[in-house]
Amino acid sequence: MIHIQALVKNYKGIQALRGINLRVHPGELFAYLGPNGAGKTTTIRILAGLTRASAGQAWLNGYEITTAALAAKKQFGLVPQHLNLDGELTVTENLLIHGFLHRLPYEAIRRRLEYLLDYVELGDKRQAFVKHLSGGMKRRLMIARALLHEPRILFLDEPSVGLDANIRRRIWALIKKIQQEGVTIFLTTHYIEEAEFLADRVAFLDQGRIVALDTPANLMADLGNWAVDQFSDDNLQAHYFHSREEAQRFAAGTAASFTLRRVNLEDAFLTLTGRKVS
Ligand code: ATP
Repeated sequence: MIHIQALVKNYKGIQALRGINLRVHPGELFAYLGPNGAGKTTTIRILAGLTRASAGQAWLNGYEITTAALAAKKQFGLVPQHLNLDGELTVTENLLIHGFLHRLPYEAIRRRLEYLLDYVELGDKRQAFVKHLSGGMKRRLMIARALLHEPRILFLDEPSVGLDANIRRRIWALIKKIQQEGVTIFLTTHYIEEAEFLADRVAFLDQGRIVALDTPANLMADLGNWAVDQFSDDNLQAHYFHSREEAQRFAAGTAASFTLRRVNLEDAFLTLTGRKVS
């Protein structure tokens, strides 16, 4: 559904993307995980036709993003990282405008927006001014807006950034529900938990390169299941073990203070790059 081949992006003096290759399958929920500045937003902006790649190609549902730009644009809905709703308009008006921009017939927009507002649990906010909505509601409205023209692909750039933990979980539930309807989802995040919880597969992005790409389970499996964090002086070092018993044995033999925990995706990322994601 998404095919990226040898994608490169150079800004003045900065190599933001250094040759990205990946394929996202139909119906898949794919997470693009990396620290600030890794190149996540740049990738989405290129796929969405908002900026041009310096080299390489990409296809959305078979349509090349530059030579078949119009058809490619019809394949996706985009939820950008920063809120870009019109606060002075109502919830319904924001969706209507988006529908008009997509040249959808008025009746079709009305039907679809009624459905979507219930779907994202904003049915009772139809006539509310957007400036009066909470952060979580605005994010749900942006998701509804991106789905208005029934795209096959949904791009979510940091979908839960700035939201508190329980609101974030509500957004995650919504994202899962959208995937279950068959929409292919490509999301960027620097929240390890988000990728671990949601994604079928994860690409680790570091300084414009994909350093690993697999299911969360496989990415973690190489390290083992259990970690012992050992604290000494100013230093924190993690040690990995396949069984809890091995980990406990190691911990019992250390003089330093420690915590025993499950291995997570952050461990895999750190081991591969030497860097934390966030
Ligand atoms: P973040 O989560 O902070 O948005 P990111 O992984 O999405 O990080 P990008 O925004 O894609 O990263 O940025 C990748 C690199 O390209 C960074 O070094 C950034 O400073 C640089 N960059 C991004 N946009 C521009 C631009 N318009 N002009 C110059 N450099 C840019």
